Amino acid sequence: SDAEDTPQASLREEYQELVEQVRAARTAYYQKDAPELSDAEYDRLYRRLEDLETLHPEIVANDSPTQEVGGEASEAFAPVTHGARMYSLEDLFSESELEVWFRRTAEAVAAARPGAEPRWLVEVKIDGLAVNLRYQNGVLTRAATRGDGVTGEDVTHNVRTIGSIPQRLEGEGWPEDLEVRGEVFMSSADFRALNDSRAEDGKAPFANPRNAAAGSLRQKDPKVTAARPLSMFVHGIGAHSGLDLSSQGETYEALAGWGLPTSPYTRTVTGLGDTALQGILEVIAEYGRRRHELVHEIDGIVVKADDFADQRALGHTSRVPRWAAAYKYPPEEVHTKLLDIQVSV
Ligand code: NAD
Repeated sequence: SDAEDTPQASLREEYQELVEQVRAARTAYYQKDAPELSDAEYDRLYRRLEDLETLHPEIVANDSPTQEVGGEASEAFAPVTHGARMYSLEDLFSESELEVWFRRTAEAVAAARPGAEPRWLVEVKIDGLAVNLRYQNGVLTRAATRGDGVTGEDVTHNVRTIGSIPQRLEGEGWPEDLEVRGEVFMSSADFRALNDSRAEDGKAPFANPRNAAAGSLRQKDPKVTAARPLSMFVHGIGAHSGLDLSSQGETYEALAGWGLPTSPYTRTVTGLGDTALQGILEVIAEYGRRRHELVHEIDGIVVKADDFADQRALGHTSRVPRWAAAYKYPPEEVHTKLLDIQVSV
């Protein structure tokens, strides 16, 4: 009989189609800052792709989007190789998925450090774009987008126009060479004001603050970026020439002391069992209620093992750390057709 009609052939066909849909959505989102799908629609396609790959490992393509972080760096910018790789985050789409992740991760921590009372940072997931800042001898020398996690785009001149990012670190104790990672975002208030003034000028509005931030930062002309209200909160470090710190929380304190903007929304929860899990769920519920009262938009909550010893013990996959995960809030509205309005840069 015709090979095209076998279940395997139709499976491959569905798989290939999904890969292409996800890839096209990623190009629109990461390269063009003009998404063609809602995040919820994208997440659903991506999940289906992951499920197919889990059920049928024999069909996994080497270049499947599930093996990649973000998008390729655009050729419009000079490439920058990050000193240490930048990762994405594992997504959890329900409280039960969070519970499974937490119990598995807590068990791994307990196995690596018997008797320890681990701490967890519960952070808001800022809806912006990841940027890697490099400070050499305390001076900002390079800023790059995440790109594919290995190579990002050089946006140094654009980042220099963001007022909250120090050109020079304050205080003392910073290492000679330091990579600081964080999220560049546009505050909700600035986003509304920008879109209002674009409407007055007859320009197309931005679809959401994330696209406004990405489109504003990824400009060839830093003067355009300078005219856009961008902010940043830092949420991690990369390569460094020596830091005597033992946890992520301590690192945030040090970074704040050096003048870097850290998130005011981060909470800490301690333990391995139900009380810790309940604590995390309470933070998720609280920020779910207060979501639109924060300075910036959020699309979820990030839970991180705080202790660097725990982070090292848990390690990474090729795409995500095993010591952190992102709970994603359910979409607030479902659009069948996302963008009636045109997205522009
Ligand atoms: P992600 O955005 O889900 O999570 C990883 C990123 O979260 C990190 O790189 C970091 O930049 C950011 N982040 C924000 N707050 C943080 C914090 N407190 N600590 C650590 N990191 C924090 O992952 P991703 O791989 O960049 O993108 C996947 C998501 O992007 C999808 O789930 C979807 O929402 C969206 N997306 C949408 C489309 C579309 O077509 N609409 C296409 C591609 C991706």
